[in-house]
Amino acid sequence: MKYVLVTGGVVSGLGKGVTASSIGLLLQACDLRVTSIKIDPYLNTDAGTMSPFEHGEVFVLDDGGEVDLDLGNYERFLDIKLTRDHNITTGKIYQSVIDKERRGDYLGSTVQVVPHITDAIQSWIKRVAAIPVDGKEGSPDVCVIELGGTIGDIESMPFIEALGQFSYRVGAGNFCLIHVSLVPVLNVVGEPKTKPTQHSVRGLRSMGLVPNLLACRSTTELDVNVKEKLSRFCHVSLQNIVSLYDVTNIWHIPSLLREQKAHEAILKALDLLSVVRKPALEEWTAMAQRCDMLHEPVRVAMVGKYTGLSDSYLSVVKSPDVNRAAWNSLKAADAVVVPGGFGDRGVEGKIIAAKYARENNIPYLGICLGMQIAVIDYARSVLDLQNANSTEFDPKTENPCVIFMPEGSKTHMGGTMRLGSRRTYFHATDCKSAQLYGNQSFIDERHRHRYEVNPNMVPQLEKAGLSFTGKDESGQRMQIVELPSHPYFVGVQFHPEFKSRPGKPSALFLGLIAAASGQLDWLLKKSVGSKANGCSIGKGMSGLSSTHHRYVNVNGNVSVGSFDGMYSNSNGLHV
Ligand code: GLN
Repeated sequence: MKYVLVTGGVVSGLGKGVTASSIGLLLQACDLRVTSIKIDPYLNTDAGTMSPFEHGEVFVLDDGGEVDLDLGNYERFLDIKLTRDHNITTGKIYQSVIDKERRGDYLGSTVQVVPHITDAIQSWIKRVAAIPVDGKEGSPDVCVIELGGTIGDIESMPFIEALGQFSYRVGAGNFCLIHVSLVPVLNVVGEPKTKPTQHSVRGLRSMGLVPNLLACRSTTELDVNVKEKLSRFCHVSLQNIVSLYDVTNIWHIPSLLREQKAHEAILKALDLLSVVRKPALEEWTAMAQRCDMLHEPVRVAMVGKYTGLSDSYLSVVKSPDVNRAAWNSLKAADAVVVPGGFGDRGVEGKIIAAKYARENNIPYLGICLGMQIAVIDYARSVLDLQNANSTEFDPKTENPCVIFMPEGSKTHMGGTMRLGSRRTYFHATDCKSAQLYGNQSFIDERHRHRYEVNPNMVPQLEKAGLSFTGKDESGQRMQIVELPSHPYFVGVQFHPEFKSRPGKPSALFLGLIAAASGQLDWLLKKSVGSKANGCSIGKGMSGLSSTHHRYVNVNGNVSVGSFDGMYSNSNGLHV
């Protein structure tokens, strides 16, 4: 097993995850089998109990692991399936050591950070790196390990110490350290400043880690004289300094690394240069270039909470101007997405948005909470049950159309939701969702919820025109809802965004964009008879095009808040 460690310097939010994923892809393009591990040095066991405000999107894996969003980058870039153990946190490591201590495994010794915590980190890495993640048997060849945070953070110290020991243990030729750092320009005409990177590399070295490569983030390409300066002060050879400047979209990063021969430097450090082929990235590069050619925008209103404004700005949120602006954005949209969420803040606004999309034939995709919202609106507006609600928002409602799931825990929040990959069986063959999924009889998608549509109210809702087209194996749990009389009104209890891939977009996002750009009929006709692979119809980003040769961006990145924004100004939804 070869290991590539990616660390970060100077500031957070540099796009370390995207860089590490791109490095993985580049190595995969050399015909190596690549896996990845993300280390998050916080004390939480997993990301499941953290607010997206604090930590960004909580990514959900097949096994139900609620993990850091960077695992989403790895799954998308490398088209692999990771497990919860691929996300190491301080919480998990300490929990395992404390469990062992209680069992008596260290009987007689004083349990300490070094060696007990550092050993636990190393054996965790070794064990998890060997897990096959690409559907084939046998261990991967290379494991990319991303250390979260920035060099100098107090909480990452035990990990740095463990990784220092680890690099020495696995030996030269099996370990390559890439330090991603920032080279800022202080004003528009000024020169790029190397000092922060110099300090950060010094910090790294003082803790026993020696960088093989520097990946320097900057707004524009670094001149050779800046690279020379970095080389001199950081003791990294000139050809091992890569300039990662801002590009139009993140899919260009692997080519940027290849153009600067980063793969050669990495393969040399890993003693692999003579045994692998040159990276074949043509298809990927073509996809990145195609993204730049998309010129006809589809406007999607994503109706979430007022993310930038907290309750302390309540009067601002309530001001008529803000309300008017929100309505105007909604009315200007070609499609509406209500994504997942927890808690009652903003829920009434989301219900109004779902109603608006339903009544005005605007394509609508409701994800998890967005599905529940659509059902609440239908119960209120069409069944005329004015106080219909989810018991999450109104525990005493007389018309609970969304209820707490019987197996849930009301006392323990961590990892107790209905999580991970679950099967959905289609209950109608002519519905849009089944057709979009390539007319399969069932699909497996990832879930993360505590509440569900009340099965007792389903007959009433169906009689009034809603159609529950996808259910679990018991037939009692509603997983897809559609409004057949509407051009595209789909709500799903699962999160289709988690299995979307570049070039293989999630069927339901593809359907939404197709509906928003007047191409749904064409797409559905195309899908008749085709059994796609569960989350895509056909291949290729240019799948949607009309006679006018318009391209609509439907890549795998149509997911909710997926990427750090620093590589380009188009994060998440490009549309
Ligand atoms: N809060 C809702 C539930 O727990 C929706 C969850 C979600 O959107 N992920 O069921």
